[in-house]
Amino acid sequence: MPTAYLALGSNLGDRRAHLAAALAALTRHPQTRVTAVSPVYETKAVGVTDQPDFLNCVVRLETDLSPHALLDLCLATEQQLGRVRHERWGPRTVDLDILLHGDTTLDDDRLTLPHPRMQERTFVLAPLADLAPDLLLDGEPIRAHLARLDPTDVCRTDITLPLPPAA
Ligand code: ATP
Ligand code: CA
Ligand code: CA
Repeated sequence: MPTAYLALGSNLGDRRAHLAAALAALTRHPQTRVTAVSPVYETKAVGVTDQPDFLNCVVRLETDLSPHALLDLCLATEQQLGRVRHERWGPRTVDLDILLHGDTTLDDDRLTLPHPRMQERTFVLAPLADLAPDLLLDGEPIRAHLARLDPTDVCRTDITLPLPPAA
């Protein structure tokens, strides 16, 4: 089964609970197996900066869902957890982005893989490097991409998200 990496973020309400609920939803799905969860990082919002800080983490899963079916699961999980889309890059209960799906590259009107903005985001590459420092992206390991970013953009927290028991 292909390995996928998802980035989870929340900056509204009980942020840790939202990440945990998203993780539980991914675990429950019959075609996904969550195999690792990164530490949780706290991040100031970028872009639209007048909003609460984010909690971010990265999840590794084995899945036989296609990239588009996995996107549907991400969007359905956001909906179930009460995400309402107001403005792009605005505050959200939970955001699930697909960073990588095996070695798939694609770019259509619904999905771009690898995630096109992951290389510029410390809050994505720091937790991804915790799980997969040697994973290659554009021929370079994640740790090398991370080294180019500002480490003070994020703060590693003591929050842990235990791997939920498999369904
Ligand atoms: P960003 O993509 O910069 O992190 P965002 O997560 O706030 O921004 P959303 O409003 O959550 O953006 O998503 C907008 C659309 O992006 C989704 O409906 C989805 O169709 C599309 N999309 C394209 N590539 C991806 C990807 N790799 N993972 C998740 N969504 C993607
Ligand atoms: Ca996002
Ligand atoms: Ca998103």
